[in-house]
Amino acid sequence: MPVSSKLLLIILDGVPWRNWRRLFGNLEGWVQSGEARVWKMRAVLPSMSACCYASIHTGVPPQVHGILSNEVRFRVAQPDIFSEVTKAGGKTGAVTHSYWSEFFNRHPFDFVGDIEYDEPGGPISHGRFHTMTGYGHDNQMTPSDADLFATLSMLAARHGIDYGILHTCTLDSMGHRFGHDNTPMDHACAVMDGMLAAFLPRWLDAGYEVIVTADHGQTDRGHHGGREDLQQDFALYYFGPAAGPDDDMLLDQLQLAPTILTRLGVPVPETMSARPFLRAG
Ligand SMILES: [Zn+2]
Repeated sequence: MPVSSKLLLIILDGVPWRNWRRLFGNLEGWVQSGEARVWKMRAVLPSMSACCYASIHTGVPPQVHGILSNEVRFRVAQPDIFSEVTKAGGKTGAVTHSYWSEFFNRHPFDFVGDIEYDEPGGPISHGRFHTMTGYGHDNQMTPSDADLFATLSMLAARHGIDYGILHTCTLDSMGHRFGHDNTPMDHACAVMDGMLAAFLPRWLDAGYEVIVTADHGQTDRGHHGGREDLQQDFALYYFGPAAGPDDDMLLDQLQLAPTILTRLGVPVPETMSARPFLRAG
């Protein structure tokens, strides 16, 4: 086996720390029963989606990878989780917004050619994408999260991916529309938690470690991008055998990429200089 373990990274876009801890009853239940750990993680600045995606996967700040807004996008130069897992002989999968394909495979996104691809040479071995074209305040244009979770499960079962990422903008879009302290958001978080709970045990049974987290937080006015606990801070849940820091340790988003590569047994490139927060248990 080219990598020493398998891992799935689930990114729920735009969920602040407070809403994770009070509204995701399944995730919190697994923390309570001892099957998962949870820490607070702080996003890079700017706490804007595209900037965070590039930092999550490269482990370098926006000031280094150069993705400084959602509007200016290109194939990033730094090594990332996909490139390093592929280099080590592992298979990667992505079920995400098309930005992830642009940053870590090729830019610009070709609607027909890139909407899904299977490319054994990587860096993304199996990609399934959506663009949310037409997204706006009143029309979210997000796929159903159950469909996304099912697609990731299919990539795991059919293609045996070693590392897979799923990213969904449903709650970020809800937040931009309604803010984060209201009845529609309470319900949307509960629906997401329930949909995820239907798939997560299957991934664990298949031998995957699982991380569930966000790219950034969001305020009650539905904003993020700046420096503020509500905009930057979110929860990170970990399911797996590794040991981690004390519960009150604040994690840095730049630690995520080297942590994941370490768990997979893949060499960490020099550019990822943050310290992994998980260690062999
Ligand atoms: Zn985002």
